Amino acid sequence: MRLFGVLFAITLLVFSHPQKSWAQGVIRDAEIEAVIRDWSDPIFKAAGLRAEDINIHIINDGSMNAFVTRGQNMFLHTGIILNAETPNELIGVIAHETGHMAGGHLARSDDAISKAMRPMILTMGLGILAAIAGAPDAGAAIMSSAQKNGTVTFFAYTRVLEASTDQAAENFLEATGQSGKGLLDFFQRFRYNEVFSGATKYPYFLSHPLSSQRINALQARVEASPYKDVVDSPEDQHKLDMIKAKIIGFLKPPETTFNLYPESDTSEPARYARAIAHHQAASTKIALKEMGALLEEEPDNPYFNEFYGQILFESAQAQKALPYHQRAVELRPDSALLRLNLAQALISTDTPENITTAVEELKKVLAREPDNGFAWYELSVAYERQGKISLAKLATAEQAYAMGDYMRARSFAQRALMELPQGTPDWRRANDITLVIAADPRIRKQAAQRRKRR
Ligand SMILES: [Zn+2]
Repeated sequence: MRLFGVLFAITLLVFSHPQKSWAQGVIRDAEIEAVIRDWSDPIFKAAGLRAEDINIHIINDGSMNAFVTRGQNMFLHTGIILNAETPNELIGVIAHETGHMAGGHLARSDDAISKAMRPMILTMGLGILAAIAGAPDAGAAIMSSAQKNGTVTFFAYTRVLEASTDQAAENFLEATGQSGKGLLDFFQRFRYNEVFSGATKYPYFLSHPLSSQRINALQARVEASPYKDVVDSPEDQHKLDMIKAKIIGFLKPPETTFNLYPESDTSEPARYARAIAHHQAASTKIALKEMGALLEEEPDNPYFNEFYGQILFESAQAQKALPYHQRAVELRPDSALLRLNLAQALISTDTPENITTAVEELKKVLAREPDNGFAWYELSVAYERQGKISLAKLATAEQAYAMGDYMRARSFAQRALMELPQGTPDWRRANDITLVIAADPRIRKQAAQRRKRR
């Protein structure tokens, strides 16, 4: 699991309520993303949307929220995943949000959102990358500007729109043979919280107001569905329990995890959560022992291999980590993030052959995720180790561009241009970056902001 921009906070102006800020960050994790994808894609298709065009972002935020923005972005707070008792509940919420997306409910009000969200998403990663690259000041400056740019105003949906979106959600659930009971249960469990507690913990119900009529309408529809009694498979329930264990293990303090998952609990999710918590507590030996036992039981679990490799990698044993990351990639060759971990471990071993393999792996990652700034950063490191300095500069330009730091992107692209043989594909790419940026109004805005800051 990678956490981007842990120190980053955005301000959400929800409705006319007072400003609240939450410490936030975007989470990237192969396992969590794969599970959510498996559950979301059929819903997107049922809604007539192209699943591959929709970006799902998981935000590290314990408050309960989910929302969609233009540009086909769906955001899920970790708080909503942790509060879902069954996959059917979470899928119900996803179906409801898909209803907003398919209905174009952000069409009028989201202009400000899409303008504000884009730099927020892009620069969040950059802050942490700049810090990794050894420029903490730059990181802090970028984070504070992201904070300013990321101020987003969300408009609440009306109760009428909410009721019709519930009906759309129920359509998608029926089309995929699923029950709407999860969504109903979820609403019923939280309807009193909406009334009695503040906005901080349940922003979802501020933008998606509940009402008795709304719940009654949904209930009538759910009861009439031929799929109302369909329940989650034990496999799906297990997947949800595992990703909840992972989120808690990584994001809560270890003592909290040990309280939630005491030693007496010998279930797989509990053992997973504890192994992660031991790793977080820097008890490497125990983490390896407990994760090793899980891996022995499920040697073909790509994420067990990944995490075992991660423990080794993060305790400076990159060479030992390699076979586990390799195995994870073999088991899930379509996962860009598993490949990125492998590339990172390869680079750390610092042998010429491994660096060459890392470059090949990173190219595969970037073919799938051309905006992955961390992959571009790793590629720049690999090229530098190979002495290919002009390519390293081009990769740095790509990284800056992917993260929305257009001035830095232009500066590195120009430097790459001077050194690359004219007319080659790499030269043309560097040239393209400078041309695209020259034509982009955002760079003028960024330049003006930087002048002001000085
Ligand atoms: Zn809604």
